[in-house]
Amino acid sequence: MENINSHVLELFDEMKTIRREIHKNPELLYELPNTTSLVTTYLSSLSGVEVYSQVGRSGVIGVLKSDGGPCYLLRADMDALAIQEENNVEYKSQIQGRMHACGHDAHVAMLLIAAKVISNFREKLKGSLKFLFQPAEEGEFGAQAMINDPLYPALENPDVEQVYGLHITASEKIGDVLISSKYASCYSSYFYIDIIGKGGHASTPHLSIDPIHAGAHIVLDINTILSKYVDPQTKASIAVTTFHSGEVFNAIPHICKISGTIRCFEPETKETIEKRITNFCRGSEISFGCEIKLEFQNYYPPTINSPEPSQIAGNAFKKICPGANINNLSPLIGEDFSYFTEKKPGCFIMMGCGDSQHTSHLHSSTFDFDERAMLIGASYWVELVKDILT
Ligand SMILES: [Zn+2]
Ligand SMILES: [Zn+2]
Repeated sequence: MENINSHVLELFDEMKTIRREIHKNPELLYELPNTTSLVTTYLSSLSGVEVYSQVGRSGVIGVLKSDGGPCYLLRADMDALAIQEENNVEYKSQIQGRMHACGHDAHVAMLLIAAKVISNFREKLKGSLKFLFQPAEEGEFGAQAMINDPLYPALENPDVEQVYGLHITASEKIGDVLISSKYASCYSSYFYIDIIGKGGHASTPHLSIDPIHAGAHIVLDINTILSKYVDPQTKASIAVTTFHSGEVFNAIPHICKISGTIRCFEPETKETIEKRITNFCRGSEISFGCEIKLEFQNYYPPTINSPEPSQIAGNAFKKICPGANINNLSPLIGEDFSYFTEKKPGCFIMMGCGDSQHTSHLHSSTFDFDERAMLIGASYWVELVKDILT
């Protein structure tokens, strides 16, 4: 059985209320007026917590300052997704086409409750804490915006020594946790290929350059990259996710547009994959006589856990869930906590929230979880702080 912190348990109803309030009103990227106002009001009500808002446009930081000692940062993200919720629950999203399908509502609730409990034993802390609530994790570099904020850079004043992040996941059962010993998230990047041929009548193919034919070859070539050019021990994925060309059945089109995504951990793997895609495109220009425009767009770099913080996180989690399976896997997910671990040593964990009643995964329109999982997450935060600062 879990060792839930007794103060967290007392605040369970409050934690559910916060989560449901945010869940009902999902907001996207940097436009988070209701969520940030809830977070700011809550943090401002805690004694000893200084609140900085509009950090990185719409992030909020609560600082619990102590004279001397190190400063640690605990992070939650606040944004939802443009997904129509299909759950029939009392706290269902009230906004059409938007949903907290990545659990960020729970991340906010758990960290706020932990902040309240921690602020009540603040005299015992031998250092400072930053409770950081970031915008725009889902695709718009919110972490980077907070780190680079010109007025209040998130990692300064006081200078942050280590950073900790927590995400929920239905891939792990409640009470289990994924703590990678190195990569906690992967490189993700996109590629866009425009194949420009020469349109014409379908009956005179010799007078045209068929971009669909070239595109079909390129897709098949891309699908050989992992099996032929990347070490089979390496974890990576490449997916062609769009292919658009042609309007009518009796004409060869002028253009074919393809795009897709690359995910991997090592920079060399990313380089190999991008080089192969480039070569296949250049080769196809010669083979098929078309012109090909190729563009890569980098998304988030990998989150890299450091050994000491990972040890600390694992120990704290085990104290809450003594029977926890600690899964040391590197998930092929994108996550912008990477910008924090690029600057400071830290650990990003993925805490289980899956059970037999809740099997939908993150980013699914039916994602939901047993809210008792939040007791574990909030208790983990409190335990972690006790371990590092008391
Ligand atoms: Zn997400
Ligand atoms: Zn997320």
